[in-house]
Amino acid sequence: MIDRSIRFDGTLYCDASCRVATRVGTITRYPLTAKQSFVKVRSQTKFGNEVNSQLSTLNSMTRTLTLLGTGTSMGVPMIGCDCDVCRSGNPRNQRTRTGVFVEAPEGNFLIDTPPELRIQLIREHVHRVDAVVYTHAHADHILGLDDLRIFGYKRKAPVPLYCEANVEESLRSVFSYAFIPPEQKTHQHSVPRLEFRPISVQPFELLGMTIRPFRIWHGGTPVLAYRLGNVAFCTDCKLIPDESWPLLQDLDVLILDCLWDDPHPTHLNVAEALEVVERVKPRQTYFTHVSHKLEYEATNARLPDGVELAYDGLQIPFTP
Ligand SMILES: [Zn+2]
Ligand SMILES: [Zn+2]
Ligand SMILES: [Zn+2]
Repeated sequence: MIDRSIRFDGTLYCDASCRVATRVGTITRYPLTAKQSFVKVRSQTKFGNEVNSQLSTLNSMTRTLTLLGTGTSMGVPMIGCDCDVCRSGNPRNQRTRTGVFVEAPEGNFLIDTPPELRIQLIREHVHRVDAVVYTHAHADHILGLDDLRIFGYKRKAPVPLYCEANVEESLRSVFSYAFIPPEQKTHQHSVPRLEFRPISVQPFELLGMTIRPFRIWHGGTPVLAYRLGNVAFCTDCKLIPDESWPLLQDLDVLILDCLWDDPHPTHLNVAEALEVVERVKPRQTYFTHVSHKLEYEATNARLPDGVELAYDGLQIPFTP
């Protein structure tokens, strides 16, 4: 895990990778999430202003990306399955469908709207979503779209959906009720308020940061992966075309599709995902879109250093 921290007066102030105050020798590590009350106290000391300015610089640089779900299309546990992983009591073996919550400099956005979106956003105490960016239009990545209704209501404006033309076409067809003319709506918030923003593999600005989409292939389905600063999110991937490899260079964190050990026509398996890791050498890799065939502890024990299975709720600090 990356640790961006500043040391001041015997204290380490850390980013979101440090979630609780911990003491290591004589040093106490304080999470930035606890900084508000802590800085208030420190401000009364003669060093307070300096701490404050260093913290605000660090805070302006670092944001958090939260993995809302890390499971494959059927989720884990899978309905009706009695395997050891599906019956496991370890919460890290319980995987809702894949999606991401990103805290950007000027608001929050989602990557995809998986079927458990409401449960995921409640679990992560999310109060605000300002936009959604889509990877592709498979059911496990779009079926939570109706849960965006609350955000149109809160924003008093439509929620912008950034996606490719084929994804817009699917969303308009699957959620036809959400795109009826205003005069046909029974009342104001009966359907989600949405508006499309077409994207391609060109970088675009969103909420104070640059989003760099790049093409990956999911069998015959084109998917957009995203580079956000020093992190890349590549779900539903079987093949990375030549033009996309440069976007995977110099990563702190790679979040990569990895279904199971056997070959699959549209997803990377463990061996193939490790080949990608070997080629781009990210500092840390998390495998996502994981099936019930990969038990959390046993799989991590056999993965190389710097490669782990992701889990629902994992928070990853990044620099936009
Ligand atoms: Zn999927
Ligand atoms: Zn199972
Ligand atoms: Zn898919």
